[in-house]
Amino acid sequence: MKTEIRLPLGLPEFEILKQSIRNQKIILDVRTTALPVHCPLCGFSHVKSHDQRLRRVRDLDALDKPLYLMIHVRRYRCLNCGEVFQRVSSLCAAPQASDPSSA
Ligand SMILES: [Zn+2]
Repeated sequence: MKTEIRLPLGLPEFEILKQSIRNQKIILDVRTTALPVHCPLCGFSHVKSHDQRLRRVRDLDALDKPLYLMIHVRRYRCLNCGEVFQRVSSLCAAPQASDPSSA
């Protein structure tokens, strides 16, 4: 019998790749869904997949266990100016790295 965790993520920008429980922690491997991207520098829409970074984010507890998101963040390269950038998600923004202009 296979037990599958189904968590209401409520994060339409992510797709779940893998769910597992390790050391009393729930680990969710998620990936940003492929959406049209534009270069943040020049606005050019012709971009090429560059590479992928893994980012761990602590989420709310689920099922009385700490929940971690392993976010596979895709990075892109602009075919116009060569800028490498990533799809920025609200979840990827580290709370510590707050915008100094808002302080
Ligand atoms: Zn560009």
